[in-house]
Amino acid sequence: MATTSKIEWTDATWNIVTGCEKVSPGCDNCYAETFTERFRGTAGHHFETGFDLTLRPERLALPLRWRKPKRVFVNSMSDLFHKDIPDDYLTRAFAVMSLTPQHTYQVLTKRHGRMRSLLSSREFVAQVDTQREDIQPGCGDFTWPLPNVWLGVSVEDQKRADLRIPALLETPAAVRFLSCEPLLGPIDLCGPIVPGRGRPKLTYWLDGRPGWGPDQTDDRGRVFQEMAVGPRIDWVIVGGESGPKARAMHPGWARTIRDQCAHSGVPFFFKQWGEWGPAPFQVRVCDPEVGWLGTDEELVVAKADSEARGATHVHTGSWSDEDGERRYWLHEIGHKPWSLERCGLPNGMAAIRRWGKGRAGRELDGQVHDAFPIPAA
Ligand code: SF4
Repeated sequence: MATTSKIEWTDATWNIVTGCEKVSPGCDNCYAETFTERFRGTAGHHFETGFDLTLRPERLALPLRWRKPKRVFVNSMSDLFHKDIPDDYLTRAFAVMSLTPQHTYQVLTKRHGRMRSLLSSREFVAQVDTQREDIQPGCGDFTWPLPNVWLGVSVEDQKRADLRIPALLETPAAVRFLSCEPLLGPIDLCGPIVPGRGRPKLTYWLDGRPGWGPDQTDDRGRVFQEMAVGPRIDWVIVGGESGPKARAMHPGWARTIRDQCAHSGVPFFFKQWGEWGPAPFQVRVCDPEVGWLGTDEELVVAKADSEARGATHVHTGSWSDEDGERRYWLHEIGHKPWSLERCGLPNGMAAIRRWGKGRAGRELDGQVHDAFPIPAA
């Protein structure tokens, strides 16, 4: 457990479970796996068993001792709804969250199905109540969903958006959020595809699906219904991947999500570019038809000169089917510049370069996006 965190959208982490298994492409370069596997087999080390799923019950009560309010990321080194975490362990965790309303808990999962079924179940809520009494006898009533718990799903591409966002919207929650990190493909947050009719213009993931509220009766006994808006996404985080095997994020993907959030008034948080970020321009160092006519040494100097001025690689992308799954791949073309003149890019392509996470920073088109959700009263 860390009482502080370097993750930009939280204050602290509360790792009551460590270890996990990969479920989707967003897991390919899992930080928690890389970190914990370094210590596998080190006798006596906290991560002696590497990334194997391990319950950490000694940490369950820690937030009861934290007086200062914090935003707490629950299980940054695992997934809280992993199938091997027992239900009663989870009810204990939710009981602690309910008994510490001074903190705001951020629960992020890729196991949307188990989250939905458990948190919608009366038995689960009854068990949370029992655990509350066990921890703090006489603690009294509580409301469900817990007002201080934000629930989120990881959404790295459109396929995962179409799977996980509807499940999140069907889960009782005070605040619902998306973590689009690592963003691996373009995502349209305007709602699911309707078979045969394409994607509707109505943005009900971000705006809430309009419908009818419960029956009401006016003072003359007439029954009527008012329009109501269904659950919606309250917060969106976007980030590119970091680390040595980081996959690049097309700047256009981040811009589209930013613009869709702005249109619907949904708070948007741009966490980081990650390893790759936009390059200010690209150059050629020779005629692509002719090729390089100088010496190898001269070529190295020409490339270094252009890179020192911020010029960089050109990328494009394409879709491919892999093991029955559609994935978006970025390709490098003209990996290094060919002339010392700036050149343009075809539509849809963006110049990016490997800056490293620190240098790439977290400005999107010159602006830091740091918005947080405003929980309903
Ligand atoms: S769900 Fe999260 S913790 Fe588990 S493997 Fe995937 S990225 Fe890692």
